[in-house]
Amino acid sequence: MTGALDTPLAPGAWIGILGGGQLGRMLALEARRMGYRTRVLDPDPRCPAARAADEVITGTLDDPDAAERLARRVDVIVCEFENIRVDAAVAALRIRPVYPHPSILGIAQHRIREKETLARLGFPVPAFAAVDTPDDLATGLAVTGLPAVLKTATGGYDGQGQRVLRDPEEAHAAFAALRPQSERLILERFIPFEKEVSVICARDGRGRTACYPVAENVHREGILDVTVVPARIPEPVAAAARELAEAVAAGLDLVGLLAVEMFLTAEGTLLINELAPRPHNSGHYTLDACTCSQFEQLLRVACRLPVGSTDLLAPAAMVNLLGDVWIRSGGRPDFAAALAVPGVRLHLYDKEEARPRRKMGHLCATAGDAWEALARAQASRDRVLAGAARPFPEDAPAQGDPACPDGAPVR
Ligand code: AMP
Repeated sequence: MTGALDTPLAPGAWIGILGGGQLGRMLALEARRMGYRTRVLDPDPRCPAARAADEVITGTLDDPDAAERLARRVDVIVCEFENIRVDAAVAALRIRPVYPHPSILGIAQHRIREKETLARLGFPVPAFAAVDTPDDLATGLAVTGLPAVLKTATGGYDGQGQRVLRDPEEAHAAFAALRPQSERLILERFIPFEKEVSVICARDGRGRTACYPVAENVHREGILDVTVVPARIPEPVAAAARELAEAVAAGLDLVGLLAVEMFLTAEGTLLINELAPRPHNSGHYTLDACTCSQFEQLLRVACRLPVGSTDLLAPAAMVNLLGDVWIRSGGRPDFAAALAVPGVRLHLYDKEEARPRRKMGHLCATAGDAWEALARAQASRDRVLAGAARPFPEDAPAQGDPACPDGAPVR
């Protein structure tokens, strides 16, 4: 193990990764490209990061002993997701630096703490109220109004653990359904957003930040479906979104990577929905379209290297490939057809079992403009399902609404 706290960690050093999902995998691949070695802690020895990392330590992410075992065998630790038990991250921090700091994991893994922290720091969030008992529903609804969203404070991801309330009558049933999943619940005003956007920001130990372009995201059933970059929003709004993300990273004194998910309303107001202090699905395009990927940035910060350029080399669009694609194509997605679309790259996460809603991979297209990138990415995904390709671009989806046949606007 090498390196003092103020000097950069040279290639050859060991990076520990808490979590071996697809984000851990992409971190490990980038680390390998840069000459670092990686050791991943994950409960599954055959996790997506397993074949990309140098070694997997099998253990759960809520076990301080396992985190300590990892820490003793690496030079620095990064987190690939926020739902790591804070105790475990603290145990690792006693031995090696951990990015982000466990206190930030503690904020991001609890929706009430997250919203309270953001509100206390003066950042815009949807009106919200903590709900601990059925009696809190009426007082909460007085704060948020209707429609509202009732969410679990912990454990919810990809749209799990939340119910939209359009009528006060629905509140008690929603409470009863969600309460078993989480000790506390949070009620939020439902925001009829024009767009969802996200900004990923890297911040190093000296407070230097680098912010990626604003990404425009479309979710389907609570799961990210499409990301388009740059977001097709007015430049002053994009500048405000980037400033907001940088201010949040500074406000939290974050060292590492922070994805800030926001709602953009028809009036041009930005409201923060969620923080992810780690690489983010909406930043996967950075592997194909930016000078330094989000994964490289986190490694640079952790290794005390200069924060890299976030320049966008070409407009890009990313579409997720969920397990449903495998199921609908009889287990044989047609990647040859997908890759016949110009400008498209394939990323697969090495997951053995395709289950509905499970993120299995993604396609990323670059092009001369964001609309063309989106058309390419969408056409490519259509071909994965459709089998033999017809020539592109003659049958590319119309520019109108290629990503969302069900009507959710993307442009
Ligand atoms: P979350 O897990 O909180 O990121 O929520 C998943 C998705 O649900 C978001 O990306 C939004 O599309 C939608 N959503 C969550 N909270 C709200 C809200 N307060 N108002 C409107 N839509 C929401």
